Amino acid sequence: MPFHPPSWSPPMPEINESISIERFMTDENYDRHPIGYSNPPFTCGMTGKSYSAFEVKERVEHLSRALTDELGMKPNEGSEWDKVVGVFSNNTIDYLTVAWAIHRIGGICTAVNAAYNEHELEFQMKHSGCKAIFTCLPLLQTCFKGIENTGIDKKNVYILPMPEQATPGMKNPGQKTVDDLIQAGSKLPKQPADDEKWSKGEGARRTAFLCYSSGTSGLPKGVMISHTNVIANTLQLVAHESPSREDFMKRHMLQSHTENCLGLLPMSHIYGLIVISHLGPYRGDGVIVLPKYDFKQLLQVIQDYKIAMLYLVPPMIIHMTKAKETVKQYDLSSVHGIFTGAAPLGRETAEELSEMLPKVAVRQGYGLTETATVVCSTPPDDVWFGSSGPILPGYTVRVITVEGNEITGYQQPGELVVKSPSVALGYLNNDKANMETFVDLDDGRYMRTGDEAMIDKSSNGHEHIFITDRIKELIKVKGMQVAPAELEAHLLTHPSVNDCVVIGIPSDREGEVPKAFVVKNPGAIEDSDRIVKREIARHVEKHKSNHKWLRGGVEFIDVVPKSPSGKILRRMLRDKEKEKMRKE
Ligand code: AMP
Repeated sequence: MPFHPPSWSPPMPEINESISIERFMTDENYDRHPIGYSNPPFTCGMTGKSYSAFEVKERVEHLSRALTDELGMKPNEGSEWDKVVGVFSNNTIDYLTVAWAIHRIGGICTAVNAAYNEHELEFQMKHSGCKAIFTCLPLLQTCFKGIENTGIDKKNVYILPMPEQATPGMKNPGQKTVDDLIQAGSKLPKQPADDEKWSKGEGARRTAFLCYSSGTSGLPKGVMISHTNVIANTLQLVAHESPSREDFMKRHMLQSHTENCLGLLPMSHIYGLIVISHLGPYRGDGVIVLPKYDFKQLLQVIQDYKIAMLYLVPPMIIHMTKAKETVKQYDLSSVHGIFTGAAPLGRETAEELSEMLPKVAVRQGYGLTETATVVCSTPPDDVWFGSSGPILPGYTVRVITVEGNEITGYQQPGELVVKSPSVALGYLNNDKANMETFVDLDDGRYMRTGDEAMIDKSSNGHEHIFITDRIKELIKVKGMQVAPAELEAHLLTHPSVNDCVVIGIPSDREGEVPKAFVVKNPGAIEDSDRIVKREIARHVEKHKSNHKWLRGGVEFIDVVPKSPSGKILRRMLRDKEKEKMRKE
């Protein structure tokens, strides 16, 4: 017996599977909050610059014409796989303008983690078949290096404008900017949007975003997220939150309500891309955009823009609880909700934050790139610390034991397996991972999350999901993915490494950090262990982005523990580490 959304949950809204995300987001004929009555969708928290929803719509249209002119990518011509365009940028108010313009011509936007270095960028550009890329000045040199061997022409690197404070002393060496393209596009003839000619259900078959995730094992893979996936999750979130939103309006005697929310989390990650950048503007909220994390600036911006909803990840919440005196210096009375996700938030931390800000609902959501995005979340009036909340409308979830039996009772952990119209189309060119991850059960196609969860019932009778552990190999550093297989493959290229395994160990500041267990090569240099360990750590630092560095350390072992069938016993190592930390 699967678990369903709670009884208070509104029914799953109908999804139009024949429109693109661009139409859904910029056209008020598709139930978007009336454009004329909404906040500017994106406002720069550093400069206050914004475009009204009308202007965003127009900018998207003009940019799409320029893309056709520049890149020869025409709506209704060729496959979407010939129209893959990357965005490798810190958050900016134009990030989604670019994504929606790509969608308007029927292309695919591949969002690249702004923390990536040139090697990681190169991998994604090649793997996705990307033809052009939008970046920002602070990442331009990395971008140039990253495209060197990809076939992308330097002239097809475009600049997303960023506030001057975020680009001190940086000069554009002559690349075209988004504004240049929009200006040029405004003079070009109007062209139809790609979806004007879509057949029924085409939005559910066509990839809109190609985001990268390592899934349950192995290297990062391209997750094909369709137009319908994004539209579905946006509507699921709107429905899930509508009872509490209506309650808020009643309490404040309002006819309608929109508010400001925080756009600090990277738009390159599914949480920032869908939950913040689509849910917010769709329901008329304003996203206050910040390009990077600066604690005091964040508090100032919350105060200045009277932000009501903060989207954060657990390490930021821990930072807040550790900086109570600083927090007290700012007026945060506008905040009514803090939403956290992407990694587990400890019960104690949630309690501490709630004591610190008693009027704020400390909420948690759980989701994955592959479910684009949220599976469950605690609504403001049903907060239960430690829980990730009831499931969203349109979801069916099952909890399965290692032996493959279904758990139908409460408080019994097993793997969480989910079905939803937001579950992605699959991994690009990876049949093996697709077969392992997406499974057909009697009532439809489910996705194995690789997370261990249990269902429990709250005092008011609602079923909540508790994420109890991670079965899959993934490590989450500050909410960002680190694939152990990627680090292991890289470590094996070091002359001193004979065999190795990488696991995540708990960290206060980052949630988790990678630690390598290494079997030394018999012929390894005779240097002291300390020097060899440092060299191995440096080998990662030289080639991988900062969040992948071995902050958990390097430990030498005699042999990598494996099961009789040859499977690495990661969990055993993780449990040992946890035990060791508890004793320290
Ligand atoms: P990503 O695809 O980068 O969003 O990573 C998804 C993974 O992050 C999930 O499979 C979980 O392992 C983890 N995750 C996300 N939200 C939570 C949460 N609320 N509690 C525990 N783990 C989470």
